[in-house]
Amino acid sequence: MVKIAIIGAGLAGLTLARSLQDIAQVTVFEKSRGLGGRLSTRRAEPFAFDHGAQYFTAKTDAFNDFLKPMIASNVVQAWDARVVDIRDGQVMNQRQWDATCPHYVGSPGMSAIGRYLADGLDVRRQTHIQSVVADERGWALTDTDGEELGVFDWVISTAPVAQTAALLPPSFAAMSALPDLQMQGCFAVMLGFDQALPLDFDVARVVDTKIGWIAVNSSKPGRPDACRLVIHANNAWSQAHLDAPRDTVMTELCDAASDLLGLSLATAQHRAIHAWRYANVDQPRTVRYLLDTDNQLAAAGDWCLEGRVESAFSSAMALADDLRKRLVH
Ligand SMILES: Cc1cc2nc3c(=O)[nH]c(=O)nc-3n(C[C@H](O)[C@H](O)[C@H](O)COP(=O)(O)OP(=O)(O)OC[C@H]3O[C@@H](n4cnc5c(N)ncnc54)[C@H](O)[C@@H]3O)c2cc1C
Repeated sequence: MVKIAIIGAGLAGLTLARSLQDIAQVTVFEKSRGLGGRLSTRRAEPFAFDHGAQYFTAKTDAFNDFLKPMIASNVVQAWDARVVDIRDGQVMNQRQWDATCPHYVGSPGMSAIGRYLADGLDVRRQTHIQSVVADERGWALTDTDGEELGVFDWVISTAPVAQTAALLPPSFAAMSALPDLQMQGCFAVMLGFDQALPLDFDVARVVDTKIGWIAVNSSKPGRPDACRLVIHANNAWSQAHLDAPRDTVMTELCDAASDLLGLSLATAQHRAIHAWRYANVDQPRTVRYLLDTDNQLAAAGDWCLEGRVESAFSSAMALADDLRKRLVH
């Protein structure tokens, strides 16, 4: 059987692995301890926070079909959130998400999706791929500890675009299809409270110089009651402050959110911040995936389309369909 190495156990990597496992010997390498990539949940007992992707929609039949078994087993549930916009400090446009356009989340946390999809796959966690080097047998992979991880016929990277460009060898000519693609950062502030906050929304989409999003994480289905807020800085502000001291950034964002909400968030029992260096793409693309059949290298991920969960799935499925046609004779 052909041997395929997939770098990254986010939605794209796990979708590819599941789609190819019947025609290839697939090994997934993931640098983190958790599965799911940006579909992630950070735990700090008694609190847990979805600090990456907040929710997702399903526009295509293929993605709706893919979600069905996860919905049936409650790993994916609809979040009927009460939503507002906050613009110039004014709360407006109150509405409620409902079944006419479901907004899905993983349950009991976003990371449940990665755990579900990885079941039965050969996933090597905490294995940070450092190099992909050609030898006479194929592609030899080595991790950052210097461990040799084997030789593969094909290597597929689903790491964010900058990491993919750094990882795959210069002979991966397909990379030139996305010469100027940039990804933008995002700060996520996580606040846990010992009592409920007097908020009459679950989600606030904010137009502000710093903040882009405030969510009552505990309003999502399948979560414990302990009140939790996730605050995302907007991409432009995050990108400009990625190298600033984390304490300063957290204080600035908490102060800005306190002003917006008209209450003090300093009462939080738990405070943490995470910097996503590669959160979102600067603008949508249409390449779907990158494939170099001569070198047997490929890449997929949300960045081939746009920074959405469904795009990661669509990119991975398009590449898997193409590879299946080539590998099944
Ligand atoms: C703060 C934030 C908010 C978001 N909000 C939303 C939202 O509300 N709705 C929505 O639809 N989308 C949202 N997104 C985007 C969504 O999370 C992504 O589009 C999607 O999860 C991308 O999946 P992926 O598999 O392409 O990439 P990733 O999930 O990034 O997976 C790539 C994986 O590769 C691993 N990796 C990287 N380099 C290496 C290496 N050298 N060796 C081994 N492993 C490696 C990474 O650890 C990661 O697990 C958000 C993202 C962020 C960060």
